[in-house]
Amino acid sequence: MIKTDILIIGAGPTGLFTVFEAGLLKLKCHLIDALPQPGGQCAEIYPKKPIYDIPGYPEVLAGDLVDNLMKQIEPFEPTFTLGERAQTIEKLDDGTFIVTTNRGTKHHAPIVAIAGGLGSFEPRKPPIQNLANYEDKGVEYIIRDPEIYRDKRVVIAGGGDSALDWSIFLTDVASEVTLVHRRTEFRGALDSVEKVQELKNLGKINLITPAEITAIHGENHVTGVEVTKKGEESFTLETDHFIPLFGLAPKLGPIADWGLEIEKNAIKVDNTLDYQTNIPGIYAIGDVNTYPGKLKLILCGFHEATLMCQSAYQRIYPDKKFVLKYTTVSGINGFDGSRKEAPKAVVKAIN
Ligand SMILES: Cc1cc2nc3c(=O)[nH]c(=O)nc-3n(C[C@H](O)[C@H](O)[C@H](O)COP(=O)(O)OP(=O)(O)OC[C@H]3O[C@@H](n4cnc5c(N)ncnc54)[C@H](O)[C@@H]3O)c2cc1C
Repeated sequence: MIKTDILIIGAGPTGLFTVFEAGLLKLKCHLIDALPQPGGQCAEIYPKKPIYDIPGYPEVLAGDLVDNLMKQIEPFEPTFTLGERAQTIEKLDDGTFIVTTNRGTKHHAPIVAIAGGLGSFEPRKPPIQNLANYEDKGVEYIIRDPEIYRDKRVVIAGGGDSALDWSIFLTDVASEVTLVHRRTEFRGALDSVEKVQELKNLGKINLITPAEITAIHGENHVTGVEVTKKGEESFTLETDHFIPLFGLAPKLGPIADWGLEIEKNAIKVDNTLDYQTNIPGIYAIGDVNTYPGKLKLILCGFHEATLMCQSAYQRIYPDKKFVLKYTTVSGINGFDGSRKEAPKAVVKAIN
């Protein structure tokens, strides 16, 4: 059981900044995210795009913003459950919560902050019969640990950056890499497309286009896939793994069944006070919430996270009085023993 003060569901910019604001109040945070890396939409959808409306940054790449947030929260030693989706929530008699993921990891906290954005990113699955039967038996939609493909034969399907980049990466790991795409054109970074072309010419990537995987073979594990090329008869390709990389689509998912008030696929919160939901102790911040005048912007998520943390502090310590302190005055006391502070004024005579 992972125990923490604030359990944050979603490690997008809002969830990450929550760790900082909670840290100032000496509250510890643990984050769960369905994606294998932190950063939410910024990391998953547009890491190389510049953002122009983050206060104090005339221009910042979305990926760099995530890196900076990670650096900013480092002193507060956040912990993560990545690549797992928060599935169920249970309220205990003492008002605390247990959140369990789809992989059975349990988390216990007095406060739950849902910073789930547009929802949990779920893989887009190709329409292949019995596909679900092979999940985790040779079919994977997200590559969590490339080592499982060492000396194995892999077939990757897709035409975007993920399919290109993983095909390139796995040539050094797998015994055989085949990339199948329904078009001859790929949509990705130019250097990735050129690298795949080069690896194809060297015989390190077996490229099959325009083609689709139309069936999977194997009893208890994938042993092969059926490849159908446009206008040709299909054929069986032996493989140990089939990895369809068709992108990820967000879904509010299991959170929608937690008894929270939902409006237009978002969680209703009290924006006059602290972004708490209809269940005391559960807050919703960032893109995932709704209230009159709501704007789905990163800076709004940061603001909501800040107010939410003050309320969470009062809930955990009802007898303590909260005093707002500027970081310029109080500095930052990291949980790792680090301290950052502005140079102190001195009293010294000038002769
Ligand atoms: C192309 C594009 C450009 C944009 N440009 C700008 C811009 O210029 N300026 C701006 O302010 N905003 C911009 N945005 C919007 C901005 O990215 C969002 O407002 C911001 O990402 C919201 O942050 P968040 O942390 O609330 O949610 P997200 O970034 O969506 O993160 C939520 C995280 O929660 C996880 N999650 C959800 N449910 C679960 C669950 N059940 N279990 C585990 N994990 C879960 C998801 O996997 C995700 O990683 C842009 C968005 C896009 C798509």
